[in-house]
Amino acid sequence: MGKNILIFGPNGSGKGTQGAIVQKKVNVPHIESGAIFREHISGGTDLGKKAKAYIDRGDLVPDDITIPMMIERLQKPDCKDGWLLDGFPRSKAQAISLAESLDKAGIALDYVIEIILDREIAKLRIMGRRLCVNDNNHPNHIAFDAIKPVEKDGKLVCRVCGGDLKTRADDQDEAAINKRHDIYYDEVTGTMAAIQHFKMAGGPKVISVDGSKTIGEVTESILAKL
Ligand code: AMP
Repeated sequence: MGKNILIFGPNGSGKGTQGAIVQKKVNVPHIESGAIFREHISGGTDLGKKAKAYIDRGDLVPDDITIPMMIERLQKPDCKDGWLLDGFPRSKAQAISLAESLDKAGIALDYVIEIILDREIAKLRIMGRRLCVNDNNHPNHIAFDAIKPVEKDGKLVCRVCGGDLKTRADDQDEAAINKRHDIYYDEVTGTMAAIQHFKMAGGPKVISVDGSKTIGEVTESILAKL
């Protein structure tokens, strides 16, 4: 059965980790706006070149680039039986745009997952995360035992595949972290407003979980309600 799911949570809330788990369980593609941008940047595409400066600063990439990119992605064949959308929409304007596109295409949204976490805790967590160069869905974090990287030949490597790890420039830059959180916690035009938009729409089932719990506990409370 197809499921169309949005997942929300501030940077540092474990959203990517939980998204990877939910995606496997529900068996739908995990569509991450940030990861799509990073692919464009490493591939040297025009879109990547346009987006890079915004991303490095922690600013939103403008809607005229982001919205068509994401709507097109959802129209690819692998999305026809459902998707888990992560990182988009990130503002009220994007939420309205997405809701309109889904309406037009006759696609229903089934679930909204919201990971709730205090801003200060989220910030501390961000700086410890590491990205696997081989697979974006191999979460690693130096401060969480469950997903701690492993040591090989004196360096830390991906706990899943042994691949090299890298950090994101925007994760080690406090000003960029603050900007991303300013956007997330903004209840008027930001991501909190986007979440509210879908809550008010009355359609999807909303699953709100406490992100301060362990990875396993958060997963359990999400899967129990899906
Ligand atoms: P993330 O991996 O979700 O933290 O995204 C990394 C960066 O990509 C963000 O800080 C933004 O610069 C950009 N980005 C990701 N998703 C969006 C979006 N929905 N709208 C605009 N910019 C985005």
